[in-house]
Amino acid sequence: MTSSDQLPEAPLECISCRKLKARTECPLCFEPICKTCLLPVPDDAFQYMPDRPEDLSHPRYCGFCLDATINPALEEYTEVLERAKKICLLTKAYKGHVSTIKKAKFPIEVKDYPDREEVIMRLAYLAAKEGYNALLQADVVSAKVRNEAYQKSSWSGTGWPATIDAERLDRDEAREEMYRRGK
Ligand SMILES: [Zn+2]
Ligand SMILES: [Zn+2]
Repeated sequence: MTSSDQLPEAPLECISCRKLKARTECPLCFEPICKTCLLPVPDDAFQYMPDRPEDLSHPRYCGFCLDATINPALEEYTEVLERAKKICLLTKAYKGHVSTIKKAKFPIEVKDYPDREEVIMRLAYLAAKEGYNALLQADVVSAKVRNEAYQKSSWSGTGWPATIDAERLDRDEAREEMYRRGK
């Protein structure tokens, strides 16, 4: 069985409730299932994951796939996201002293998203995924993109992932930077 349009007319036995009313299939294991037995994943699940695999991109799955594949992946994603939210983001304008323990060999880049916050979260996610706790020399900029009918903004950003001694940051300036980040 490869896709739902090849399912026979007669309903199959649902792998979840075992009733003979499966009219669709799970997008991951392709087992027959009824629509009401397919379970949803939250809308924002895996939102900032770069190159999100197709397996993790469906809105609903059977309970077995949720338990075996989706929920463990979501747990890992959420753990990285929580660290990403706490990343110390310092822009080029930050002039305070930074006690850098380790710095990535190359800067990271995120391109062409409709809003600033999304670019910041994606940069932070990338840095957190690699185990860093800061993004240095961060630079998030917008460009006007002219479409035929209207103008819109396209946001991009760069920064150097790093591990810093956050306790030793110049408090006032760092707070100022974090404040700007939230705007
Ligand atoms: Zn069912
Ligand atoms: Zn499944």
